[in-house]
Amino acid sequence: MIRRNDYISWDEYFMGIALLSAKRSKDPRTQVGACIVNSRNKIVGVGYNGLPIGCSDDEFPWEYEGDFLGTKYPFVCHAELNAILNNIGIDLEGCRIYTALFPCNECEGNNTIGNKRGSVLI
Ligand SMILES: [Zn+2]
Repeated sequence: MIRRNDYISWDEYFMGIALLSAKRSKDPRTQVGACIVNSRNKIVGVGYNGLPIGCSDDEFPWEYEGDFLGTKYPFVCHAELNAILNNIGIDLEGCRIYTALFPCNECEGNNTIGNKRGSVLI
């Protein structure tokens, strides 16, 4: 018997994990997941959009319109940031991040992923 040849690629595997992670989000409007992988194809962090650790999903707003402080925007952390914060405690330089939604400019360029030199977005 020979081995299977129709197995999924690494990219499909890690994107699948990002999509699965998105299903953990409590956000009623947008669910995003992210998976960070090192150069040896080892998963080093996963996350999804949600409130910071310690903040109740039931006490903070999930609205997306109206008074700013009455919406989710000042409170919810994006999946990319959560994946970085949840990493296993290594230097993320040279890692790749797979996201279920194209990263916003804040995650991609200014604060989160852009500061992790060598990261590659897929
Ligand atoms: Zn973002």
